[in-house]
Amino acid sequence: MTSVPAVLGGDPLFADGLRMFRPTLPPYEELAPDVAGLFETGMLTAGPHAVEFERRLADHLEVEHVVAVSSCTVGLVLACQALDLTGEAIVPSFTFMATVHPLAWNGVKPVFVDIDPETWNVDPVQVEKAITKNTSGIVAVHLLGTPAAVEALEEIADRHDLRLLFDAAHGFGALHDGRPLGRYGDVEVFSATPTKVLSAVEGGIVATNDAEIARRVRVARNYGNPGDYGSEFPGLNARMPEFNALVGMKSLEMLENNVSRRQEIAATYKARIGALPGTAFQRIAEGDRCSFKEYSLLIDEVDFGMDRGTLAKALAAEGIDSRFYYDPPVHAHDAYRHAVDPAALDLPVTTAVAKSTITIPIYSHMDDDTVDRVCTAVERAHAYADDVRARLEPSPE
Ligand SMILES: *Cc1c(COP(=O)(O)O)cnc(C)c1O
Repeated sequence: MTSVPAVLGGDPLFADGLRMFRPTLPPYEELAPDVAGLFETGMLTAGPHAVEFERRLADHLEVEHVVAVSSCTVGLVLACQALDLTGEAIVPSFTFMATVHPLAWNGVKPVFVDIDPETWNVDPVQVEKAITKNTSGIVAVHLLGTPAAVEALEEIADRHDLRLLFDAAHGFGALHDGRPLGRYGDVEVFSATPTKVLSAVEGGIVATNDAEIARRVRVARNYGNPGDYGSEFPGLNARMPEFNALVGMKSLEMLENNVSRRQEIAATYKARIGALPGTAFQRIAEGDRCSFKEYSLLIDEVDFGMDRGTLAKALAAEGIDSRFYYDPPVHAHDAYRHAVDPAALDLPVTTAVAKSTITIPIYSHMDDDTVDRVCTAVERAHAYADDVRARLEPSPE
């Protein structure tokens, strides 16, 4: 017999609460000597550690060029600039806002398109339909760490002579055809902020096989100064500090363990929560590996017995944090909704998926007991669905 959910009076499964994510940090003792070295030399930025981190990242990602920057958002801003994006760029709306802002910072109009109902990644068919004479590029996302339809997008970009940029913020640790992401399109930009699988405190990783793009991003992250105190174009200060590079290198050493652990957690979630009616997950292509930067479930209100909003409240009563990623989708944000012609916007899949998904906690050092209790929380909410709904949903009278 399933135990009674906390919302109906059962003991909360997490009396002390369970947060969405916790960064998996290297032991401080391992870092301390190098940090002391920074203070001895006084070389805090633009030093050898960032260069070494870039070398190791290029090795790991199997790409020719890596430029470490201060954040993924800024890396995307500089990548759009390096690609000379103008006019319009095609982009999904079901993503984090920082996928789209770099277009706005470059004066490029985002043209939002729909996602695939199974992978939740941008739908190449919709991308191709949205191309106009003003389109200069495509921005795709490896959403939640599941590789996008990279070959189909490359084929479309080639055929229409468009630039292709991947927001790979969630992509570190993911594999496509057994190899890391980073080599697709013209350039891919990863995030190393603490909520991501690889963390450098804060940071962005620009990966490309194009030497000129890499050169331009390098100049751009240093005020646009190519080294002669002139400015080739308007740049920013977007350097990655030495301390961040040190933390990032330790995080890279832990990556494979961390991603493997996330595969185990995701497999348990899929086996137990996926056994309940009315639950579905993002489809990951055969042979691909998701980084499981996040774990989202799609809840069918009728089959599961309650909608994702009521489930979130039931989980909150258990002490479990959850989020509705990505609701509202970006085209509905204040920053964009005025610029978007509502008649031109038909994003039924985005709207449906954004309204039905709930993201539950996952992090790389989550132990089996924690995973078990999260599953139990969802199971017992479902088992008592009628009572939970009666308690949490206002009656229609
Ligand atoms: C986190 C994130 C970013 C921004 O990364 P920062 O390193 O925080 O700038 C961009 N896109 C997506 C999809 C993200 O989740």
